[in-house]
Amino acid sequence: MQILLAENAGFCFGVRRALEIAEQATRDHPRVFSLGPLIHNRQVVERLAAQGLVVSAGVEEVPPGAVAMIRAHGAGPEVYEQARARGITLLDATCPFVARVHRKAAHFSRQGYTVLVLGDPNHPEAQGIVAHTGGQALIVESPQDLTNLRLPSRVAVVCQTTQTLEALRALVDALLPQVSELVVANTICDATAKRQEESLRLARQVDLMIVIGGYHSANTRRLAEICAATGTPTHHIEQADELQEEWLAGVEKVGVTAGASTPAEAIEAVLMRLREMAAPASG
Ligand code: SF4
Repeated sequence: MQILLAENAGFCFGVRRALEIAEQATRDHPRVFSLGPLIHNRQVVERLAAQGLVVSAGVEEVPPGAVAMIRAHGAGPEVYEQARARGITLLDATCPFVARVHRKAAHFSRQGYTVLVLGDPNHPEAQGIVAHTGGQALIVESPQDLTNLRLPSRVAVVCQTTQTLEALRALVDALLPQVSELVVANTICDATAKRQEESLRLARQVDLMIVIGGYHSANTRRLAEICAATGTPTHHIEQADELQEEWLAGVEKVGVTAGASTPAEAIEAVLMRLREMAAPASG
């Protein structure tokens, strides 16, 4: 059995940067609070907890005067204000690509456009983008959501960094006949797009796809959807011990990819387990 690993599997630039900031912060301070889990990977969050990183639900839970971290997903301006008011030292690990979406959305909002954020309304990144427009922007998940909206004549679109180009195209196509002025900022993260393209290419070549990453990780779930849409059987797992022998029955080529918050150790453990599982069949 051949095992093929997607080239850009695992940590992206923004997550790696956030982890480096966290590691340094826990060396500099006995206790550091992260405003929400730093990344959607339980194992990494547990390791950081042992180093003194405490996950808090929000800035209101952080003791006054403490040190807190904004994660790669970013946060709204109100979080910075609340932190300042409570004397909290903020370490900002907002991914520069997410910060770019904030700036674009705020800019379009100031210009008088109604801003639509293509994204998941429950995702903190999308909520943070809305907050940077003073709460004015609307989150849409797909063109279907437009049917419930009364659209003004001037609309601007930005997107959550994990969106696909197809989803953005579909939204733009649906908006064009409805508005007289439309501006679009393609704020999809390159790392996400590259990982998605590679995973798609790989899924088409193999008999089975394994997608590694946290069950709460939006970008990992997206990868699993993209791979499954090719018709290749696809399993989303968090750890190597979830791999099942029966998945490999009759499989000649297995593809492995991983979300942006999946550590190299988790990927290596899956590859090792697959090699072990493949060994009896190959000899
Ligand atoms: S996926 Fe892209 S935007 Fe999101 S944290 Fe990683 S590099 Fe930044």
